Amino acid sequence: MPLRLSASLLALALLAGCASAPRHPAAVATPAAPAPAATAVGVAANDNLNAVAWSQTAIEHDLIYLQTYRDAQTRLLAAMKDRQWDALAKDDRVAPAGGLKPAVVLDIDETVLDNSPYQARLVRSAGEYNEADWAEWCRQESARALPGVVEFTRFAAKHDIAVLYVSNRAKDLDQVTLANLRKVGLPVSGPEAFLGLGTFVEGCEQIGTEKGCRRQLISRKYRVLMQFGDQIGDFVTVLANNAAGRQRAMAPYLDWIGSRWFVLPNTTYGSWEPALFNNDWSAPLEQRRRQKIDALRYE
Ligand SMILES: [Mg+2]
Repeated sequence: MPLRLSASLLALALLAGCASAPRHPAAVATPAAPAPAATAVGVAANDNLNAVAWSQTAIEHDLIYLQTYRDAQTRLLAAMKDRQWDALAKDDRVAPAGGLKPAVVLDIDETVLDNSPYQARLVRSAGEYNEADWAEWCRQESARALPGVVEFTRFAAKHDIAVLYVSNRAKDLDQVTLANLRKVGLPVSGPEAFLGLGTFVEGCEQIGTEKGCRRQLISRKYRVLMQFGDQIGDFVTVLANNAAGRQRAMAPYLDWIGSRWFVLPNTTYGSWEPALFNNDWSAPLEQRRRQKIDALRYE
């Protein structure tokens, strides 16, 4: 059954969904901050510098991806053989999985493709994410594959397991996204392999930028063996993007981590960040920074 919500809960969920919309690469546009360019004499301080530097240059980052995809690969065929095995959350499994074609479901950004050059540009220009220059980056089709994912997805495709990409890239970026995926050697069976933001799903109430409806669509055709993402929203619908709500969303599925669900690290952006300042991107930067500092543990 599709997820059904009462009117009041739906209103709350919509509010939460909108409020928890990921800053990037979601649909919420915000004006770019004035961009003092980097110069030879100095670069404006940017809170994201270390996070971007780590994700782009630390071999430890690459090794986490490699070990994740390698581990998943060693488990994949056993999951396929187990006819009871399914990796969709109960709210997303709207049709029985028995007899359906097996599939793996992957988020794209920072799960499959490495967009750290876009983040690096924001650091250099002291800019903030905005829809226009994010789309421009996507249209370059130059994002690299993250370590291990090409081997894993090719292994899956070779064993007749469908490889599906569920992304909050806008649907009108589908062609450039598919081209980028193909360029780096990822299997793309066809346009239907990409389920971007704006994919219409009959009989399902879209909540903000949440991916639940697209997972429900997948549940009608596929038994899902594994899911991969760098955000908890890649696995479950998050109705309240705060510390308690995020814990609550994942609590029923902790046993699935590392077998059905594989979570990858993203220190540079994600719903974890606005959860620290009530999802209020309209608050002045200094206020958001203060709330983040207040959210740290000191003991
Ligand atoms: Mg992502």
